[in-house]
Amino acid sequence: MDEVLRRALEPVLRDIRATGVPEPDVRDDDWADDDLSASAFLWSRDGSGAGVRVDRAAAEADRVVQVADQVQEWVIEELWGRAATNWPRCPQHPETHPLRASTHGRSAMWVCPGEGTPVSPVGSLE
Ligand SMILES: [Zn+2]
Repeated sequence: MDEVLRRALEPVLRDIRATGVPEPDVRDDDWADDDLSASAFLWSRDGSGAGVRVDRAAAEADRVVQVADQVQEWVIEELWGRAATNWPRCPQHPETHPLRASTHGRSAMWVCPGEGTPVSPVGSLE
């Protein structure tokens, strides 16, 4: 696995494990075939895959946000029809929307999209 991508994925996978939602099987597959990005595939148990890619030139926090967005989409697809899809759940609005990954200063944060308030660093969900 590409080191840049591995480092960006690590905090997002930690959040998946901490919250007990399905975890993708991440396979090294540089499908993007592009020197400016690193890519891999996220596989689910039912055999469907989704690509994930990250810009090598982006700041570290931005890379985590890019990956968090794509993995979040994968998790929501996985939960669809089986469980509530609002992952990660917004503590202030648990029925309304999931949190959204966003860069605040030099940190990748999960943010309430309604109020724009940071809730937790990516990688620190409980
Ligand atoms: Zn909210």
